[in-house]
Amino acid sequence: MTIRDRLLSLHPHEDQSWPKSLWRASGLGYCMRQQLMAATGMAYPIDTSLARKFAIRTGAHEVVQSWMVKEFGDVMLEHYIEDKDRHVGGHSDAILVSADPKVLVEIKTAQQFYFKNLKSGKSKPYWGAQIDFYGKTAAAEFGEEIDVITLLIEAASGEPAIIDTEPVPYEPIADMLNVCWETRMLPPVDEATCRDCNYTHICNEPLHTIDDLRAAIIKDYGTPIEREDTATDE
Ligand code: SF4
Repeated sequence: MTIRDRLLSLHPHEDQSWPKSLWRASGLGYCMRQQLMAATGMAYPIDTSLARKFAIRTGAHEVVQSWMVKEFGDVMLEHYIEDKDRHVGGHSDAILVSADPKVLVEIKTAQQFYFKNLKSGKSKPYWGAQIDFYGKTAAAEFGEEIDVITLLIEAASGEPAIIDTEPVPYEPIADMLNVCWETRMLPPVDEATCRDCNYTHICNEPLHTIDDLRAAIIKDYGTPIEREDTATDE
């Protein structure tokens, strides 16, 4: 393979790590069935273009985090925040610890069309439950109110925007996920999120349990890749 071919085939390798909690804060806005499948360890290799896209977005996060450290100095990066009772956890992007009150900054990147719609208020952010989770759990951990701000960067132009995100209470979502996990029963189909999902044809079938859905997905897509540390409900 030539150097040119090798450069064109560069891609990140699978990250199979898994957080300590059953439910990811960043996933709380997603369909509950998908979150339940993820909690069972359901993960598939993604194509190399998508892997590059995700890795570049992660890189963009890291660049913005380094700007914040230079600008504000005392910044806590990737601090893990957890609601142990509800089995929800997530790494907050940055906490400006010297600010009064402390400010937790969630960094998001978006393509131009979505960026414009979010900025104008035409689209509603999907991360309202994540913001609610960070605000409440960080306040409990630090013993004071925390201001949570979403800094959105348009991927192509680098234009920044602060997006006012209305918090969506995360507790009912987490409670429902935990009930489903304990009873092994599936929540109803969430049609609002089904349009772009690969599992639509499967969810149209009368399935009742988490294990039914997992078996149906494996039947169509094969065995998922192994995660090093699949979450448990301990
Ligand atoms: S088809 Fe709909 S309900 Fe089923 S996993 Fe996908 S988004 Fe969720």
